[in-house]
Amino acid sequence: MPHPLLYDRLLARGWRMTAQRRAVAQALVGDHVHLTADEVFREAQAALPEISLATVYNTLNDLVGMGEVREVSYDRGPMRYEPNGPRPHDHLVCVECGEIWDIELAGPVAELPEPQRRGYELLGVEVVFRGRCPRCAAR
Ligand SMILES: [Zn+2]
Ligand SMILES: [Zn+2]
Repeated sequence: MPHPLLYDRLLARGWRMTAQRRAVAQALVGDHVHLTADEVFREAQAALPEISLATVYNTLNDLVGMGEVREVSYDRGPMRYEPNGPRPHDHLVCVECGEIWDIELAGPVAELPEPQRRGYELLGVEVVFRGRCPRCAAR
């Protein structure tokens, strides 16, 4: 299902859009985008050469705090940032190159039986499929 782009959501909620913030928000465009801070920095720098890595980190942290950007990290891979923060979804991950795809599950949602909850207030569940992508499998 189509959902509004991060940039449009930020404008809609009245986030003060400086040149730096725009460069970071526009680096995180599209589905299946899970970028490291360095990758966001390189994208943002292409649009705004004077932007600093510290500004990129600060902006990403603000966006994560607002719930607009989600941090994902699996196994020993680097922290990645994705614009689909508000939309719960699951992931398909390559264990070799660390590529991440958003997926929509076809089956029923996993449930945790009461006796195994250990008194936890449950906040969410996430399913991660791990595998080898075609490029890594061909190597
Ligand atoms: Zn791979
Ligand atoms: Zn995702």
